[in-house]
Amino acid sequence: MNIVQITAHETVFSWVSRCHLRCGVGHVRNTYQALLNVFDIRLHPYLPNHLHGITQSSGIDEETLLVQHTLYALFRFFEHDTKGQLRRVMCRSGSPVLAAHIPQAAIGIALEHRYCPLCAKAQRQTLGFSYFDIRYQIPGVVACPLHQCLLASIASGDGALDKQICLPRVVAVLQECLTKEAHFSAFCFEVLDGALDHSDAVCSQHSYLNVLDRKGFITKRGHLRLRQLIDALRDFYADIRLPRGAEALLTFDFVGPLLRKKTHSPRHPLQHLLVGYWLFSGDAACYFNVPTAIEQLSLPIEETSSADELIKQGVVNGLSLNAIAKQTGKSRCYVRRIAELNKLQHRTNSLANSHKTRDLVVFQAQLGLHRKVIANNLGVGVGYVEQVISNTPELVSWRKTLAKFQKVAAAKETITAARLAHPDWVRKDIKAYCTNAFFCLYRNDKAALELVLPEKLPPQTPKLDWIKEDSRLFEAISALKPPYPKSLSALGRVVKDRAHLRERLHLLPKTKALLVELKLLCITNRRA
Ligand SMILES: [Zn+2]
Repeated sequence: MNIVQITAHETVFSWVSRCHLRCGVGHVRNTYQALLNVFDIRLHPYLPNHLHGITQSSGIDEETLLVQHTLYALFRFFEHDTKGQLRRVMCRSGSPVLAAHIPQAAIGIALEHRYCPLCAKAQRQTLGFSYFDIRYQIPGVVACPLHQCLLASIASGDGALDKQICLPRVVAVLQECLTKEAHFSAFCFEVLDGALDHSDAVCSQHSYLNVLDRKGFITKRGHLRLRQLIDALRDFYADIRLPRGAEALLTFDFVGPLLRKKTHSPRHPLQHLLVGYWLFSGDAACYFNVPTAIEQLSLPIEETSSADELIKQGVVNGLSLNAIAKQTGKSRCYVRRIAELNKLQHRTNSLANSHKTRDLVVFQAQLGLHRKVIANNLGVGVGYVEQVISNTPELVSWRKTLAKFQKVAAAKETITAARLAHPDWVRKDIKAYCTNAFFCLYRNDKAALELVLPEKLPPQTPKLDWIKEDSRLFEAISALKPPYPKSLSALGRVVKDRAHLRERLHLLPKTKALLVELKLLCITNRRA
């Protein structure tokens, strides 16, 4: 079949459509058969398969098709092809959608071929035809950065185009887009270009975490300030439009799994692009030029004061705990705790329980009473008791020490009682039957353990049961068949006698009788 030349950035679907419209004969299935060597197929807008068939029929290089005319490079960059599965199914047969983990992302963007009506018009005027640009198929791109207008689209899924072909159509009404949407599209284009240029690069979490650190979204101990981060993202994207089905992403609940090391898994490119555009301020190069540790240190720090400092400042300035909690992204409980540990006055709930009650709680807590017992004694809630304990400096560590003492005392009592009940028990028995108590003392107070355990017994060598050994050797020798070994040593090696036949035969009467019977006993063996 005659074919047309594929244009730069053109999608595979667009090229097949043009081939059919220009050179095809009859039903579009004939064109699919001729170009892809498949009779019945629905080509995906940006992750088509059967590329190997196109290479065979048209001579277009498979790698060029894969990298420049599909979004393979983008998905590969965002860790969706670490095992080469996506490349395999796109070149041959299989489901690229599954290989690219799109169902797992649960983003319901409808399948459609998107295009800019003004770009299509310009193409018609200069080239004589219009085509679908692969860059506009990037999930999340809704605007043309060149013409600042919203993209038009042709649905391609079930109940729509399905297996038919099409090319961009003339659109009568144009819709303007927001500047931010156009900039976001331009950013997505740059990331795709970068992924093409850096064919080995894979998106690293470090590129995000480094900048997040500089922006003050990571604590001194390396934890993410997730709530503040999500709030910042929501504010930034409050007015942006995403393709139908992807609106749920604007809650940014996916940010935790995307950024946390422990729960990390490949995420959908749109999730990365949304975070990246905001974080890198639209500079796609940040994905590919990750600064070294030393360069990192020289970058300006936007906000370094920790949440604790902000809380202290807020309390001193007389802000309510609620307002501080919202500002710092910490819980009210945490804010209150920091304030009280630093002995800062705050008014919230100050009249709920009197100072006297509070002092009594502290006193009983110092005695090591259980939280529930204290709550019952004083007629207050367990939550209040817990809050007072955690908000009183050094009380928690004191109670921990006290709890250890109590455990050690209880363990001593347990072992002493066990010894009284079983005077014949040796150390091994105590260890076996009072395991918890034994190891509590072993870990916390070895001297006390030595005192409560029974006396050590002198080591005893294990005794061999000679009757049993006699029977074992008797059976082993009986099982042998002639010709027998010529010496006792050779026989011993066969039945694994541990030298007992030569050295201890006087303890093995049954075996000895058998050896005599079989005429295997050497008369020179003096001990026998
Ligand atoms: Zn355009």
